[in-house]
Amino acid sequence: MANHEEQFKKLIAHAKEYGFIFPSSEIYDGLAAVYDYGQYGVELKNNIRQYWWKSMVQMHENVVGLDSAIFMHPTIWKASGHVDAFNDPMIDNKDSKKRYRADVLIEDYCAKIEDKINKEVEKAAKRFGDSFDKNQFVTTNPRVLEYQQKIENTLHRMNKGLAENNLADVKALIEELEIVCPMSGSRNWTDIRQFNLMFSTQIGSLSEEANTIYLRPETAQGIFVNFLNVQKTSRMKIPFGIAQTGKAFRNEIVARQFIFRMREFEQMEMQFFVRPGTEMEWFEYWKTSRMEWHKSLGIPAEKYRFHDHEKLAHYANAATDIEFEFLFGFKELEGIHSRTDFDLAQHQEFSGKKMQYFDPELNESYIPYVVETSIGLDRTCLAMLSHAYNEEVLEDGSTRVVMKFPPVLAPYKIAVLPLVKKDGMPEKAREIMDTLKGDFMCQYDEKDAIGRRYRRQDAIGTPFCITIDTQTLGDNTVTIRYRDTMQQDRIAIAEIANVIRENL
Ligand code: ATP
Repeated sequence: MANHEEQFKKLIAHAKEYGFIFPSSEIYDGLAAVYDYGQYGVELKNNIRQYWWKSMVQMHENVVGLDSAIFMHPTIWKASGHVDAFNDPMIDNKDSKKRYRADVLIEDYCAKIEDKINKEVEKAAKRFGDSFDKNQFVTTNPRVLEYQQKIENTLHRMNKGLAENNLADVKALIEELEIVCPMSGSRNWTDIRQFNLMFSTQIGSLSEEANTIYLRPETAQGIFVNFLNVQKTSRMKIPFGIAQTGKAFRNEIVARQFIFRMREFEQMEMQFFVRPGTEMEWFEYWKTSRMEWHKSLGIPAEKYRFHDHEKLAHYANAATDIEFEFLFGFKELEGIHSRTDFDLAQHQEFSGKKMQYFDPELNESYIPYVVETSIGLDRTCLAMLSHAYNEEVLEDGSTRVVMKFPPVLAPYKIAVLPLVKKDGMPEKAREIMDTLKGDFMCQYDEKDAIGRRYRRQDAIGTPFCITIDTQTLGDNTVTIRYRDTMQQDRIAIAEIANVIRENL
């Protein structure tokens, strides 16, 4: 784990040094849990958004897009339940004055037990060698079983306490488990209080209660309230979906882990409207489809897993997370939820407007059921950054840091590099650059020795370097260097675009 922590620190430093992600308002010492995307980060983020949009909207004839406003009528958040129940349980340590999420303290405690299980497995694997059967071991070893039981009991009691708003019992659990504050090491805790995560502000020039509006904590409600507008104007028939990407805001109690948990972040959500009774089929469809999307990026499958929710929100009848193995362990990257007709029914009740769909095949009207897919764009950026970051020792003993992004997501696709800054090479390079930059993000670089320029491109993850040398001037060929293998091929200038397109 220490190794992973070290690695995570290096990643954050690299992201800053190479213009991916800066702390917000840095010259004023920053603003907690808010970040800015630099020149390479914004390209990465745009590429992920586009890749998502293409697969959800362009490739699904029955999914259309939307871009709803961040500000919405305040009653929307009453109807959705956010005003009354979008809370996190917070607890303070009286000695360190540090604030924590009570559920996170307990989950971290369970993660430590999980580590112990992993250690047992490692030890046993060493002991038994090739004949080791992991599955058999974890289902029969008494110590592992005891650990698992402990985790299960703990989470069950926590979830029950939270669901019943029995915060005293959640605190009692923290005390019984002897959880200490990581800062002060003490067990001197305050009571647990609920804390609403929505940011509010005033609209108009009057500061009265009636003018209080919220910064949306999710993009989904913009889709629900536009459901009939979109359905009627696009003449969509159920089943159909509406997708949108955009900023969301949550006043997270504990901001940490870089862009994993931010106060201002971006979501990519899709609400799929279906006939009541068919939602489980669609839930399975989107579960599979979304997992395939993640795997299509070429990251090893074992980096992803499903985590089905045992405890469901009162409006959901199925829910799962797609978790990614970040440098701090498996954590939620995307949620897939079957939300029944909860949201539309609530809006029908609170607005007094019918939120029903007339189904011509059944010849009846009903409030559709909804299956949603909700993924964090920033978390996906973090997943890509952590997967991409590699330190390699080369044959000559030197090292390189290379960002092995899936080429389709790489901020720049091509670097155009004249070998030297004379003999007509820069001019030729410019010519080549001009033919490519309409189709690909290209970067021109003529400063420093070629080796150093390759390293710079490796560090930002550019998959292809095109080098112009003396031979180019004679026979119109260039070398193309591949980022991951560092292999170099000689190809005709006329072939560059095709070769790159094939590799993307
Ligand atoms: P968590 O349990 O981690 O707080 P959540 O279950 O509240 O997440 P959802 O409300 O399901 O998250 O939001 C959908 C997605 O939005 C999440 O899977 C995550 O990728 C992203 N997301 C949620 N909160 C944040 C945040 N504070 N910073 C960055 N991304 C976030």
